[in-house]
Amino acid sequence: MTGHAVTSNDIPLPDLEALRSLARESLRRCGAELPADAGDVVARSPLTGGTLFTLPATGPAEVDAAIGAAAEAFLQWRTVPAPRRGALVKRLGELLTEHKEHLADLVTVEAGKIRSEALGEVQEMIDICEFAVGLSRQLYGRTMVSERPGHRLSESWHPLGVVGVISAFNFPVAVWSWNTAIALVCGDPVVWKPSELTPLTALACDALLARAAADTGAPAGLHRLLLGGRDIGERLVDDERVALVSATGSVRMGKEVAPRVAARFGRCLLELGGNNAAVVTPSADLDLSVRGIVFSAAGTAGQRCTSLRRLIVHEDIADRLVEKIVHAYGQLPVGDPFADGTLVGPLISGSAHDAMRQALADAEADGGKVLTGGERLAAESAPDAVYVRPAVVRMPAQTDVVRRETFAPILYVLTYRTLEEAVALHNGVPQGLSSSIFTQDQREAERFLGADGSDCGIANVNIGTSGAEIGGAFGGEKETGGGRESGSDAWRTYMRRATNTVNYSDSLPLAQGVNFL
Ligand code: NAD
Repeated sequence: MTGHAVTSNDIPLPDLEALRSLARESLRRCGAELPADAGDVVARSPLTGGTLFTLPATGPAEVDAAIGAAAEAFLQWRTVPAPRRGALVKRLGELLTEHKEHLADLVTVEAGKIRSEALGEVQEMIDICEFAVGLSRQLYGRTMVSERPGHRLSESWHPLGVVGVISAFNFPVAVWSWNTAIALVCGDPVVWKPSELTPLTALACDALLARAAADTGAPAGLHRLLLGGRDIGERLVDDERVALVSATGSVRMGKEVAPRVAARFGRCLLELGGNNAAVVTPSADLDLSVRGIVFSAAGTAGQRCTSLRRLIVHEDIADRLVEKIVHAYGQLPVGDPFADGTLVGPLISGSAHDAMRQALADAEADGGKVLTGGERLAAESAPDAVYVRPAVVRMPAQTDVVRRETFAPILYVLTYRTLEEAVALHNGVPQGLSSSIFTQDQREAERFLGADGSDCGIANVNIGTSGAEIGGAFGGEKETGGGRESGSDAWRTYMRRATNTVNYSDSLPLAQGVNFL
């Protein structure tokens, strides 16, 4: 695909038919069949705002059968030794590597990510497969000392059951892979309900996993794809055969899902909205900070859960830093994400743009001043596409609009005097996903990372809030939902822990010195 990155007010875009052909070809190369072109699931491209294809949603009976097949496959898969389960994930990683370009094309067409971020998202899938393959030989339990002579106390980890994955539009493939690669080596089948906005990437991933399963002799029902909206997600949420519901999306969605899963004593892993902030202290390297801030705030058009939304800057350096940021924003090429040089692609939809406009109006009503951006760029050939200039807004205080997540590129700037004040502002929002501090003062950095510092699941020093590596556990606190997935020991959520006490003595001493019989 070719195009031109421009910063003027009229942007050239690829035409819809070209995107359709590219999507069809990418799917074909991944081995995916495009279902009949009719149905309720509308595959749109935010690049033009036009409809690529319409697809049939999965019906209630098919959802039931898919979960049934996964539950059946579990009975076999849980007995396969974990390193052999790893062979399936190894093959999946090979296929993802082979089809990296095709998958990245689909991510750009469907989610609007610029080329390098789309390739990065697929790389993340490949990385988590490598991680999971290694993990398949490291599902360790602990051995504890027993208080009784001749006894051994230990814990073992076993496959949990069917994992239901519900994912959001903005990471259409990476979030699936974080869950699926780990779940599969842990011995769990996966039933996936992707965002209704990104069905094509899901079809491609599903086809590649089906091929990996066939190549390695894995059972057929191990992976099932459900297409459709919230009603399909709800079926997964309510089904008692689904042991773990791993749901990624808005706080609103999490508040609906969590009580329903809890009501049937299922397990939930929630990855919900963020409202991420960076603190910039007087000792910070300002040029490095600007790069980190602009990537986190404007990258992916502000549509990452970890996007930087609040900048908390010391008042002595605020003017200087803001001037540099505004200057950098002025250089950001907005436009066709396939075009070389474009750094900011489209918003996902018109309603995302409505939310952005509303937030900017609310911020101004609260005394905020828009320093740059916020305007929509005209695209003559595609009036339904939404391309906006990322906005920077200086706020007099952390008002309600700053405390809510608006899924669009708006960076609110607040100032502080003492580090305590900065941390209080930082933590003074309902969400708790990602955070960072830019400083060259080690004490400030350690305080920010300490028990009374950032209250987020991710806390960084001298890098932005977005762009996590797969090796760490990913997730956040408070309204972000408390889930952890991807690296470190996040695998434990996908397994069942059993505590085992073995008596190898000739007597039967009871714990706590109890006497009986
Ligand atoms: P969304 O909440 O609208 O939808 C997410 C998914 O949930 C979709 O598949 C949707 O069909 C499904 N869904 C919605 N309501 C449901 C219900 N009641 N029961 C079952 N399923 C339901 O989110 P979105 O607009 O696709 O994505 C953006 C949001 O996701 C942002 O808030 C962003 O911060 C968040 N997000 C969080 C993470 C994270 O790891 N913390 C990652 C990506 C996105």
